[in-house]
Amino acid sequence: MWMESLQDLFFFIDEEGVFYALDLGGTNFRVLRVELGGKDRGVVHQEFAEASIPPALMSGSSDALFDYIAEKLASFVNDEERIYEQPAGKERELGFTFSFPVMQNSINSGTLIRWTKGFSIDDAVGQDVVVEITKALKRKGVDMRVAALINDTIGTLAGGRHSDPDVSVAVILGTGSNAAYVERAQAIPKWHGPLPKSGEMAINMEWGNFRSSHLPLTEYDSAMDAESLNPGEQIFEKLISGMYLGEILRRVLLRLAEEACFFGDEIPAKLRSPFILRTPEMSAMHHDTSPDLKVVGDKLKSVLEISHTSVKKRRVVVELINIISSRGARLAAAGILGVLKKLGKDVSKEKTIIAMDGGLYEHYTEYRKCLESTVFDLLGDATGTSVVFEHYVDGSGIGAALIAASHSLYLDDKF
Ligand code: ADP
Ligand code: MG
Repeated sequence: MWMESLQDLFFFIDEEGVFYALDLGGTNFRVLRVELGGKDRGVVHQEFAEASIPPALMSGSSDALFDYIAEKLASFVNDEERIYEQPAGKERELGFTFSFPVMQNSINSGTLIRWTKGFSIDDAVGQDVVVEITKALKRKGVDMRVAALINDTIGTLAGGRHSDPDVSVAVILGTGSNAAYVERAQAIPKWHGPLPKSGEMAINMEWGNFRSSHLPLTEYDSAMDAESLNPGEQIFEKLISGMYLGEILRRVLLRLAEEACFFGDEIPAKLRSPFILRTPEMSAMHHDTSPDLKVVGDKLKSVLEISHTSVKKRRVVVELINIISSRGARLAAAGILGVLKKLGKDVSKEKTIIAMDGGLYEHYTEYRKCLESTVFDLLGDATGTSVVFEHYVDGSGIGAALIAASHSLYLDDKF
């Protein structure tokens, strides 16, 4: 698989103090304030605020997006000023979790390679996103320094490893998907820089952009890809992640309506509307345990304006959902097994924790169960028990604050 950037992040300090994180993933963004308690105490307190990105800003200008984010950060900081006072002479420090492909130039600079997950802001491509957010913070009067730029996988890996050194892989299944893992620096032929003290490095895989002739693409996938904002890119992500599963289902249902009059003689108009059927709706239908599949009936009505569906039809819908969701979960599991194999963890008896995060993993229980059982099936009995999945809630944001702390300008103050 393709490596995007390599970083020596496992330089953890026993820093005390308050650090901030800004987590921009796709659908929502979060602002966090994380209080670190120093040696052995880790995170002692955290607070956060969440806001969604208005769709118009996803394809507007760079300034408009970053101004909006900076504004939310400004109001978060203003609110908390009442409870927390920043020590005089010390600028607030921020870890910026920016989960899009970036060419990392240093711990706090990186240029955006391309957008994914429904974003398309042309004037931001090729720009240093830290410079852009820093300018916006200035415009909004927020006194804050970006100490670290990372993405959600690196944040989850760092946050997970901070609490348990057995964490060596992180996987995000949210709007999009990506993974990162810890590798021995000597095993990375691409790395020509000085070897890190720890002997280990984090590799951000950008696995969402994986593609291979072995991936089972259907005509629904190909059509969705061709009509997407990023045709030909992020193919693996388009098969497995939350932004796309509901849309694949919509396309299959539309075909059934067109070719088999599945919903009657007329094709329901809403079925023609791209992205109208979202993955949370799909998972709610999948999790419907009522004997007459009431939730399925209700969702078809409320989302697609298809009323009076028979239980038999609803069962077909659930079966399709199961096929689409299991395919995604199994492919994601195959990706995880690939990483475990690369690390030799598929045959090792040592405990390996896979730090998981993202709304799809968190909320779509059937998907999660299928993913985990597939990994254990693939591993077989030999190591099945030494691999553990753990959900690291807010791992990406907390990890950003930890990495910001370990790259703080004020580290030397204590020594
Ligand atoms: P991001 O990836 O943008 O950082 P999240 O990790 O919060 O954000 O993931 C949000 C995504 O998770 C949504 O786009 C959606 O696809 C998926 N999701 C959220 N809730 C559910 C749910 N109840 N069932 C299935 N998928 C969900
Ligand atoms: Mg996220």
